[in-house]
Amino acid sequence: MVKIGVLGLQGAVREHVHSIEASNAEAIVVKRIEQLEEVDGLIIPGGESTTMRRLIDKYSFMEPLRDFANSGKPMFGTCAGLIILAKNIVGHDQPHLGLMDITVERNSFGRQRESFEAELVIPNIANDFVGVFIRAPHIVEAGEDVEVLAKHNNRIVAARQGQYLGCSFHPELTDDHRFTKYFVQMVEESKEKNLV
Ligand code: GLN
Repeated sequence: MVKIGVLGLQGAVREHVHSIEASNAEAIVVKRIEQLEEVDGLIIPGGESTTMRRLIDKYSFMEPLRDFANSGKPMFGTCAGLIILAKNIVGHDQPHLGLMDITVERNSFGRQRESFEAELVIPNIANDFVGVFIRAPHIVEAGEDVEVLAKHNNRIVAARQGQYLGCSFHPELTDDHRFTKYFVQMVEESKEKNLV
């Protein structure tokens, strides 16, 4: 069984733990840097990206997270976590981790639609996935190596680039764990590759 960490500094942490466990993997909440060594993959949850960044800096997580990425292990950013992973953020001079070749725009579905649910078609994963969007970002631009996994109203809301997976919505907030399972599979495949 693979072990997946959820960065536990801020945001929807518990819900991800539940979703990982429901997807037949072991979950731990990562609150200390050393815990990164124990996990085969990492989820950066939704929450508030500027607050999360402040805590990442406060607890000196920036370099350890970059080292984790350099080790090739899979990382999955949801909502605020997607913003933390992105190389470019509209209106910001600097990214946070700047790992995934995408440009994101924060809070981009407008005020009237602070939160909403939408049925998404995610080919090969789920044809009828209910995405929960909460002050969600969207992906404005994706680099050549980025595979677009889902769109909503013509906006990219889920994508993968090799070891990185990201989505605008909260896949951990419903009982449908198919998107989390997709990440668990990425982690299983990466662990197998490292063993041979
Ligand atoms: N609006 C938040 C941000 O910009 C993200 C919201 C979320 O994670 N649900 O960080």
